[in-house]
Formats: sequence, structure tokens, C-alpha cells
Amino acid sequence: MNEPIGWRLTNQKKYLTGVSLTRRQWYSPRPDWDHDHCEFCWARFGLGKEPGSLTEGYCTEDGYYWVCVPCFNDFYTRFQ
Ligand SMILES: [Zn+2]
Repeated sequence: MNEPIGWRLTNQKKYLTGVSLTRRQWYSPRPDWDHDHCEFCWARFGLGKEPGSLTEGYCTEDGYYWVCVPCFNDFYTRFQ
């Protein structure tokens, strides 16, 4: 087991294996929605208003799941 990768891996395999992720700016899917979290490490995505929040990452085509850049780099070979 390769920590610290291990703690971030839960059941993402079920829904992220083989899906295509696109790098893009984070956007709000709804007017009352102001942030998302990385599926692996819970890093926060937002519009840049919150200190420390990420404004760019990888998302599924429907914009539902977001993955931060470091986690994408760690996991993309594993999830294809
Ligand atoms: Zn992450």
C-alpha cells in the first residue's frame, strides 16, 4: 500500500475508471452553488473568492465530478 495515495482511494474506482476528464476552470453548475471538492483529497474548488480554493482542475464531461491537478496526476494511470 502506497500512502499517502491510499487514504484518498475509496470507491472512486466505481465511477471514475475509464471516464474522460477534461481540464478546465471550475464553474458553478447552479446559481446557489459556490464550490466543489476534489473527489480524492477534498481540496476545495471555487471561484477564487475563498483563500486557498482551486480555480482549475479536471472534471467529467457533465461537470459533476472534479479532481484537482495533483490527484489527477497521481491517479490517471490507475483509472485510465
Ligand atoms: Zn485532490
